[in-house]
Amino acid sequence: MGDLLTTLGFFALTGVFVWLHLRRGGSHASASAAAPVAPRGRPCARCQTSVPEGSTYCPSCGIPQQMYELVSAPESRREATEGAVGALRAMVRGDICVGCGTCVAACPEVGAITMRGKLAVVDDALCVGHGECVAACPVGGISVNAGTAVNRVVVPDLDGGFQSNVRGVFIVGELGGRGLIKNAINEGKIAVEQVARELPPGEVRPDGREDTVDVCIVGSGPAGLSAGLEALRRGLSYVVLEQGSLSDTVRKYPRHKLLLAEPVHIPLYGDLWVADASKETLLQVWETIVANTGLQVQTYQKVERIARDGEAFVIGTPEREWRARRVVLALGRRGTPRRLGVPGEDLAKVFYDVVEMEAFAGRRVLVVGGGDSAIESAVGLANQAGTEVILSYRGQEFGRVKDRNRHKLGAAVERGTVRLMLGSQLREVRPEVVVLEVDGQTTILPNDDVIVRIGGEAPYTFLEKIGVRLVPKDVPIAPAKAG
Ligand SMILES: Cc1cc2nc3c(=O)[nH]c(=O)nc-3n(C[C@H](O)[C@H](O)[C@H](O)COP(=O)(O)OP(=O)(O)OC[C@H]3O[C@@H](n4cnc5c(N)ncnc54)[C@H](O)[C@@H]3O)c2cc1C
Ligand code: SF4
Repeated sequence: MGDLLTTLGFFALTGVFVWLHLRRGGSHASASAAAPVAPRGRPCARCQTSVPEGSTYCPSCGIPQQMYELVSAPESRREATEGAVGALRAMVRGDICVGCGTCVAACPEVGAITMRGKLAVVDDALCVGHGECVAACPVGGISVNAGTAVNRVVVPDLDGGFQSNVRGVFIVGELGGRGLIKNAINEGKIAVEQVARELPPGEVRPDGREDTVDVCIVGSGPAGLSAGLEALRRGLSYVVLEQGSLSDTVRKYPRHKLLLAEPVHIPLYGDLWVADASKETLLQVWETIVANTGLQVQTYQKVERIARDGEAFVIGTPEREWRARRVVLALGRRGTPRRLGVPGEDLAKVFYDVVEMEAFAGRRVLVVGGGDSAIESAVGLANQAGTEVILSYRGQEFGRVKDRNRHKLGAAVERGTVRLMLGSQLREVRPEVVVLEVDGQTTILPNDDVIVRIGGEAPYTFLEKIGVRLVPKDVPIAPAKAG
């Protein structure tokens, strides 16, 4: 009922927001100029208006200046170990943490991380810097360092318009190194603003080719959708390519409550504000926006290659090639997981990542894979209350896995919290069961969820293939204050 009211509220306000947005859109367009990166307290990187010292928003275009923190940070020259002045410990970024509690479940030191309301808080006396929380956090909100209050990240080298060193290729959203839905939405919009400045809508293109769109947007998460809507709003020709279904990453969150801590402006829609709504509500809003605006998203089109052809780019999916003058990459950071290719793999109970262990408490889970990530998932899930875990691997023994994981798995199998099925192959996923083949025999087991962890392509590998430069940057961490 709550979700329904939230959704109805969104729709009722849509008309007002569209009207407001069209008014605001005009002022954005006129305020926007070529955008060199400027440090905070200087001209806004988007519209060049002077932002008063200490102000977090541009007084003219309203863009949160925190968005440019990573882009503006200079490339780090220091050695990774330099400045290690104290014992390793975890630090939470209060401005990024969404309060999901995943780090608490992942941390092996009881009490080292606790939740205070919607914020994770580290107890320095108990934290010993394991770093399990860093890998577990879905939004990059936590890091482990040696008291330097600096988070070392390796990110694509981008300018203030989110354009990479490969001119014409823009990188937005989580792929650029910053988490959160609001950042993704803002960055997608800003990148397309820049495209529209370079390719004014309505003008005849010098290449004169009708088979070439102005912009190809890859990915239909919050960043890609926002970029697509901005292209539509500005009258650019575009194509949006998505490897899965619409907003696939968000769709695959395991039963999660979302939080946008403040309203975020979506092109052609208006201000969206979700406080503790479900992912289903957010997806419903996305789908309604897509339906109402007529935004075309080509789903199940995985982009596998991008190559320059003169002034344009050729973008290849397994089915066909597209030509575009500019490319906006909004791939997120989860990459392209390898799939098993078995019947039933598209069911909603199949996941390729475990971002919230506790969401699987009390469930019967089959984990598939024989690497570190599969073992870590199985052991982590086995620590949840009442979860029954089966780990299925087709090999007769594990290959190269970390000793630590091998021991943890051995202990879990001994305790009986993980059932290990070596030499087994998943053949089919059905709503209530899974079908496995073990030593040539078919075995049917009751099942609630399947976690497939058999590798895949990391998005940064894809970036490197197309020539995007990745650089190390040190971002200062403001320690989280419990609120
Ligand atoms: C469990 C969980 C909870 C979270 N909770 C919150 C929250 O409460 N609040 C918040 O603000 N943020 C939250 N986040 C973070 C937020 O979801 C991300 O920051 C946001 O989705 C990033 O948007 P994006 O568009 O950059 O990438 P994504 O949402 O990851 O979208 C990328 C899209 O690109 C597609 N894609 C990838 N590769 C290709 C390819 N080669 N070809 C075609 N398509 C491709 C993917 O299928 C996907 O649909 C959470 C994340 C997780 C995992
Ligand atoms: S996992 Fe990340 S987002 Fe979730 S509570 Fe911990 S620090 Fe915050």
